[in-house]
Amino acid sequence: MKKEPVVRASGAAEGTGTSAEKPAQAAAGKPAAKRRAAGAKRAAGAEKSAPARAAVEPAGSESRTALVRRARRINRELAEVFPYAHPELDFENPFQLVVATVLSAQTTDLRVNQTTPALFAKYPTPEDLAAADPEEVEEILRPTGFFRAKTRSVIGLSKVLAEDFGGEVPGRLEDLVKLPGVGRKTAFVVLGNAFGRPGITVDTHFQRLVRRWKWTEETDPDKIEAAVGALFPKSDWTDLSHHVIWHGRRICHARRPACGACPIAPLCPAYGEGETDPEKAEKLLKYEKGGFPGQRLKPPQAYLDAGGRPAPPLGAG
Ligand code: SF4
Repeated sequence: MKKEPVVRASGAAEGTGTSAEKPAQAAAGKPAAKRRAAGAKRAAGAEKSAPARAAVEPAGSESRTALVRRARRINRELAEVFPYAHPELDFENPFQLVVATVLSAQTTDLRVNQTTPALFAKYPTPEDLAAADPEEVEEILRPTGFFRAKTRSVIGLSKVLAEDFGGEVPGRLEDLVKLPGVGRKTAFVVLGNAFGRPGITVDTHFQRLVRRWKWTEETDPDKIEAAVGALFPKSDWTDLSHHVIWHGRRICHARRPACGACPIAPLCPAYGEGETDPEKAEKLLKYEKGGFPGQRLKPPQAYLDAGGRPAPPLGAG
């Protein structure tokens, strides 16, 4: 049997030349309702043909090769479920992305997306935000919570960008983490989505799902990043992060995962942790999978083509 290659993580991100935003991938001919029905049917079919739990080897007995294969298969399946997956923060340039990512701490991407249009209209460049009156910025950022600390961070990082980096966001991990309010997670979001450099984003959804899937036993985000990175080629890291986070937000929720409507149930050791009745599970789905608007006010065209709807502006819903 041919051995699956195992790619080890090397830590720092490297350039790949991939584009900033994921290119539009049309999911033509698959309206949202049809795709949801197909997903539920697949999940239901999986339940009927064999108990989903039986499809996964018990924890502890899965070989490294089998784990790599299962992990990559989950990623491939999720790529089919979310062909339009993208960063869920609205941004038009690296400066907007780094600011939006800092603002996204302890709140939803939706709330950030509803707040940043006013911020970037008033302060379009790092120089503008560096010179801003903090009280005026606080008023704009109030809806995102922790608005005083976030104001200090975004003004502080704008000053560093203006003074040390010529007003440009640097494309290197070691420079990004020097900016106020920017840790490895934020840096990888920026590198992966504004510079096309592979990075794994270990947010709360990522941590929860990789544990459910038994990809790693690690609990420290940096160790999770290295362990999961070792299961995939580096070129997959950014899209993998989107797939996992999208699945966590829409289907595999923290409290009630929608197992009965989950297209990767046959590959999941945690099947049954949530609702297994297909009809009840279907009602738990969120955003476009549940027939609701997404998080971005300006989503990529591929999302709209697949039947996704833009989020409403602040105050509209
Ligand atoms: S929804 Fe259920 S079956 Fe699907 S990945 Fe989450 S825990 Fe596993």
